[in-house]
Amino acid sequence: MPQDLSMFSLEGKTALVTGANTGLGQGICTAYAAAGANVIGVARRSCQETAEKISAVGGCFTEIIADLSDMQAIPQIVEEAHRAHDRIDILVNNAGIIKRCDAAKVTAEDWDAVTDLNEKMVFFLSQAFAKNWIQDNKGGKIINIASMLSYQGGIRVPAYTASKSAVMGLTRALANEWAPHRINVNAIAPGYMATNNTRNLRSDASRNDDILSRIPACRWGTPEDIAGAAIFLASDAASYVHGFTLAVDGGWLAR
Ligand code: NAD
Repeated sequence: MPQDLSMFSLEGKTALVTGANTGLGQGICTAYAAAGANVIGVARRSCQETAEKISAVGGCFTEIIADLSDMQAIPQIVEEAHRAHDRIDILVNNAGIIKRCDAAKVTAEDWDAVTDLNEKMVFFLSQAFAKNWIQDNKGGKIINIASMLSYQGGIRVPAYTASKSAVMGLTRALANEWAPHRINVNAIAPGYMATNNTRNLRSDASRNDDILSRIPACRWGTPEDIAGAAIFLASDAASYVHGFTLAVDGGWLAR
């Protein structure tokens, strides 16, 4: 048991989290603030609720409103982030969408909407921050939010599966290139979590029962369940962890 647990602290660090207004992104923001980080939340809509939760733990929160389906938003995000804090130390690529549709009926428009946000933006936002980190040689942490569908095929969500499989691949690819610059690129693969993303699944009694009966932990996960993994991967404790996708899934993949 290490005597000094300060390696898990995020005191003095600044984290930028995308999709900060709801669900897992909100949970990660609140956990980071509680661990001592300044938090910048990027979202399409107001992050009022997240701001209140962070204020309740005595943290510092800055909101950036941006549409992450548009790559043109990247310079604005980088500029506003640096206006708020000199250095961003941690980037969490959390924003993501899912569109459920039979594979035979998926349109190119829906395909692009899912992969642009879930995959292309993850790469280019990471690139935007890593460029600075490579230059100042002080390192950084990137945490991508992957999925069970980084490992599995899923049903009626082919673009989502493709994008989340890409997230796991990108996590490895970027870790290989950027580890020499003390940049840790890792991912978290949440299992079935009770958020907006899974509202339709949970409201379908038969799918809900099927899913629950397959989760060894016998319950849906919550944003709080992600907190420990997200803090660990953002902290100095994870400095030698590179390119790994950590499942937080109630045992789903073990089954
Ligand atoms: P959610 O729908 O509550 O969160 C998605 C977030 O992405 C929201 O904050 C939303 O505002 C943001 N977002 C969507 N489109 C955006 C855009 N164009 N610009 C800016 N922000 C945008 O659901 P969640 O479960 O919290 O999802 C968070 C991440 O976790 C997603 O990447 C999702 O794929 C992933 N995930 C969720 C589950 C689950 O079971 N809930 C499982 C595996 C992975």
